[in-house]
Amino acid sequence: MPGYVKPAFFLFLVLLAAGIAGGFMAADRGRRVAVWCLLCALLPPLLLPLYFARPLREVEGVFKKCSKCGELIKWHAPVCKYCKSGQTA
Ligand SMILES: [Zn+2]
Repeated sequence: MPGYVKPAFFLFLVLLAAGIAGGFMAADRGRRVAVWCLLCALLPPLLLPLYFARPLREVEGVFKKCSKCGELIKWHAPVCKYCKSGQTA
């Protein structure tokens, strides 16, 4: 049957995409890429809590530590959202 995609193969593609997306989001949040890649591929709904998860450590270009209070804030944030202190660079 031309143009027909087997459901199992389609499901595999969806889970693969979920796994890859989970891996990238985990990398952005300083979490273990391999673990989240696998978790999201097996359970795609886990992408949601991962999306809202706070970063565990400083990630270059994504999250940095506030120079004053040490909380993790967005890399380009001009002001810390926790202590309101201005950020240099
Ligand atoms: Zn701060």
